Amino acid sequence: MHEFSAACSIVDAAVTAAEQHKATKVTVVNVEIGEFTFLIPEQLVFNFEIASKKTIVEGATLNLRIVKGRVECQKCGFEGEANIETELPSQIAMFAPMQCPECGSSDTSITGGKDFVITNIEAEVPSS
Ligand SMILES: [Zn+2]
Repeated sequence: MHEFSAACSIVDAAVTAAEQHKATKVTVVNVEIGEFTFLIPEQLVFNFEIASKKTIVEGATLNLRIVKGRVECQKCGFEGEANIETELPSQIAMFAPMQCPECGSSDTSITGGKDFVITNIEAEVPSS
């Protein structure tokens, strides 16, 4: 469900952007996904195909780029890329406290990588 609602937002945004540019068909959608969204790329692509059915986005290629999550440590002041426990399934990692890569403290706040953004859309615009 997580992936499906994300896929719907991406499709909605792509449709809106395409309509603004009077495009008739969207061919490519480039999206940056923050690591802390814990979206599974394969699941997102699968759901994107379902969500885009019967819209002008149908058949478009979804290109995903994963952006590293960032944390700020309240204890040692570290600010930078987070160290996510990759061996944990994402459903568990989502609720695990984020540890500081410097001092190991769990007293951290997430400063980046919680969102996904559409960076670019390629679409066909009629020339006439
Ligand atoms: Zn720290």
